[in-house]
Amino acid sequence: MLNFDFYNPTQIVFGKDRIADLAKLVPAEARVLILVGGASAEKTGTLAEVRQALGTRQHETFSGIEPNPGFDTSMQAVQKVREGGFDFLLAVGGGSVIDAAKFIAAAVPFEGDAWDILLQGGRNIKAALPFGAVLTLPATGSEMNNGSVITRRDIGAKLPFRSRLLFPQFSVLDPTKTYTLPPQQLANGVVDAFVHTVEQYLTYPVNAPLQDRFAESLLQTLVDIGPRLLAAPEPDYDDRASLMWAATLALNGLIGAGVPQDWATHMMGHELTALHNIDHARTLAIVLPAMLNERRVQKRAKLLQYGERVWGIRSGNDEERITAAIDQTRDFFERMGIPTRLGAYGLGTEAIDAVIRQLEAHGMTQLGEHRDVTPAVSRRVLEAAL
Ligand code: NAP
Ligand code: FE
Repeated sequence: MLNFDFYNPTQIVFGKDRIADLAKLVPAEARVLILVGGASAEKTGTLAEVRQALGTRQHETFSGIEPNPGFDTSMQAVQKVREGGFDFLLAVGGGSVIDAAKFIAAAVPFEGDAWDILLQGGRNIKAALPFGAVLTLPATGSEMNNGSVITRRDIGAKLPFRSRLLFPQFSVLDPTKTYTLPPQQLANGVVDAFVHTVEQYLTYPVNAPLQDRFAESLLQTLVDIGPRLLAAPEPDYDDRASLMWAATLALNGLIGAGVPQDWATHMMGHELTALHNIDHARTLAIVLPAMLNERRVQKRAKLLQYGERVWGIRSGNDEERITAAIDQTRDFFERMGIPTRLGAYGLGTEAIDAVIRQLEAHGMTQLGEHRDVTPAVSRRVLEAAL
């Protein structure tokens, strides 16, 4: 096992009817700005529940945070916080609203051009407003980590940043809040959590059997419940609870502690979203199978272990078993209703140059656990994903 630091101060408040706990979780004197996305929080009644739980605390709502949250929209919220003297942010939504809350929390006290936060990956954050979250879409793990991804549509950039100051103080995870999700978003959640796990597991062995078992149990759970979530005529509470907790555990630092991490698939996926507005998880489903095949030599031992432990693949020689493991992964995404080819989005070879240019422009030229996924390798991956 590699050396590691593990730090995660986020309080998780899990279960049915836990939004009422906001009455205890949010400081009594706080001036709260509630952040929401489009219409879902209002339509589902979650926003009304949140407001009720806040009781007599001063609060206002900022709505309109878009999927793949925008820099410009977030800066409008920063202005509202500064003008209104708000001192606590409450994100109500999925990864996009929580990511935006992190950026706003850092940008309010930031001196200078807030875009520098993205250019520096968050290393220049010196202070941040406190914030909490009410999660309505299990997928990103943003509810229990300190990372965020913000998009600037004018320059087609989608960049990540992180800071020790950007863990939510608390996150309320009520699985019944997922009941209103359309099937496409449920599937996105399963696939995003799956790929987060793979990025911290499918690298090279470092003798960390407990970490491997953590990751494999998350993958097995997602494989098990994913298709059932889509097929169920009525939402099943326990399956929704499993998804919600699995997605949180997939990216709260636990499974990544002491092991190498990849993230090349995510960095390439971000460029596809920035250029073509494809949902985050859907970009990952395009890139991952092609990436695993491209990296089958470097990832050989873990691909064999993954094939056997997650997919039960025991027959054939090593190459055949690795191919079968990658095929099973692709088939799983397709069974979740998520295409795994660029062609499904009308993209052909002409789209690849632009992605490579963007990767270079954003310094994403040495990706992966060995830092050897160069633009040439990324190009081969995209060509294989056509
Ligand atoms: P999202 O963009 O937050 O939400 C997608 C859609 O789902 C929105 O249109 C939203 O509608 C709707 N929605 C949310 N909750 C709903 C509910 N309970 N019922 C019905 N509709 C609901 O999706 P996400 O996948 O959670 O977040 C994606 C973003 O997170 C991407 O930008 C991605 O890059 C980022 N990400 C962050 C991390 C991290 O660690 N921070 C990791 C991976 C990905 P409304 O807008 O109307 O509410
Ligand atoms: Fe992700």
